[in-house]
Amino acid sequence: MDHSRRRFVGQCAAVASTSAVSAMIGRIPAEAAQAAPLTNWAGNYRYSTTRVTAATSLADVQAFVRQHARFKVLGTRHCFNGIADSSDQFLSLREMQDVALDRQARTVTIAAGMSYGQLCPSLDRDGFALHNLASLPHISVAGACATGTHGSGVHNGNLSTAVSAFELVTAGGDVLSFSRKKDLRAFQAAVVNLGALGVVTTVTLDVQPTYAMRQDVYLDLPMAQVREHFEDIAAAGYSVSLFTDWQKGRINEVWVKRRVEKGETLAASKDFFGARPATANVHPIVELSAENCTEQMGVAGPWYERLPHFRMGFTPSSGTELQSEYFVARSNAVDAIGAVEKLRDHVSPHLMITELRTIAADDLWMSPHYQRPSLAIHFTWKQDWPAVRKVLPMIERELAPFEVRPHWGKLFTIPSAQLLQRYPMAAAFKALVAEHDPQGKFRNAFLTTNLYS
Ligand SMILES: Cc1cc2nc3c(=O)[nH]c(=O)nc-3n(C[C@H](O)[C@H](O)[C@H](O)COP(=O)(O)OP(=O)(O)OC[C@H]3O[C@@H](n4cnc5c(N)ncnc54)[C@H](O)[C@@H]3O)c2cc1C
Repeated sequence: MDHSRRRFVGQCAAVASTSAVSAMIGRIPAEAAQAAPLTNWAGNYRYSTTRVTAATSLADVQAFVRQHARFKVLGTRHCFNGIADSSDQFLSLREMQDVALDRQARTVTIAAGMSYGQLCPSLDRDGFALHNLASLPHISVAGACATGTHGSGVHNGNLSTAVSAFELVTAGGDVLSFSRKKDLRAFQAAVVNLGALGVVTTVTLDVQPTYAMRQDVYLDLPMAQVREHFEDIAAAGYSVSLFTDWQKGRINEVWVKRRVEKGETLAASKDFFGARPATANVHPIVELSAENCTEQMGVAGPWYERLPHFRMGFTPSSGTELQSEYFVARSNAVDAIGAVEKLRDHVSPHLMITELRTIAADDLWMSPHYQRPSLAIHFTWKQDWPAVRKVLPMIERELAPFEVRPHWGKLFTIPSAQLLQRYPMAAAFKALVAEHDPQGKFRNAFLTTNLYS
């Protein structure tokens, strides 16, 4: 082991609130008194170790894998639960930043530690674009794909659906290649891998010619219109997000993102299903500064500065928060929204904002959108885990008739047995994990609780 490469990333470690952390993980690690804690981005989850090793090459990764009995790869730490946690060691690939564009094949192959924010501007300069992005560009590509992270749009699959190939170092230190073209079944099994299969070192993404977009925001969409016209509203743009606090029978803000041709000057419609156009940029949480948000008001700009809601270099969302997100079939959208609306008096006191989005179906085994065009019901919560922990089971109970699946990287309380029933390929996925990681090198408490208990 090359100890000169080992370094602590204490500078990344925000100090978490002790009470929130102890509520989340049920204990304070013994070393907390001595070492600066390493937390996730939101600061609500304190990881169980501060030992982080940075790899700078494939050889580094292989050597690390062979020398350690248990560890997890840490991406950009934007999950809200313990999916990335390790009580032993972390490996970070954030220093691996290679990019290779294949213009002919229309793919880009990147080192897996890169974030979308690092990749997108250079991809755009080269004349190419991705099909979609999440609400923020700050997250690592490998970490996002591991959890089935998504944006919005009835025709847009989640971000993992842009992956066409990737390389993975397995528990034994061997390099395995997965390719949509060469072995579709193995590929579909392993793209959304929950960090359980090994260390993803490179990811190849489909790209398309670059495009411009505009976003228009509308205020106060009556819930009655959502009930009547959900499909039309969701399909009113390339990507549509509805933000609501579940109060006053309305959606507070509708963000409509449309692709535009060069020189095209579409006027925003004056009336959007009864909602009115915003007259200035807004934040989804209306009290917060719109400076952190991507440009609105119909101003055309590059795809990577319109698809996310939040700008690179600025704090996305609120910062001090918790998040949960649930997926149901889009065919159940109106009933599922109604079911949550009934809980508004329980939900709203702890909520900053809910976002409703749509995602196209895919065939990736552990994707929350597996074989199901989906509606996402997202909750940005105030950072009060004891209160939120009481509300989540209520939401999960109301959404159970719709076979609800939670976001893998956010907070949920659905028991493992129910969860796995909703993933038809879960048993086959676990068999694949057993094949590539027979000793549980990449297993952590999150995977034990959710896949194996
Ligand atoms: C403000 C905010 C906004 C968000 N908006 C959205 C959104 O719009 N849509 C959405 O779907 N989600 C959203 N999320 C959730 C977030 O995108 C996901 O949780 C995503 O997985 C975070 O990626 P990460 O790199 O930070 O992962 P981490 O939390 O660092 O890791 C996640 C998992 O990936 C694994 N992993 C990471 N890198 C590798 C690798 N190289 N090899 C193997 N395994 C690896 C880790 O071990 C872990 O299991 C948001 C989160 C925040 C904080």
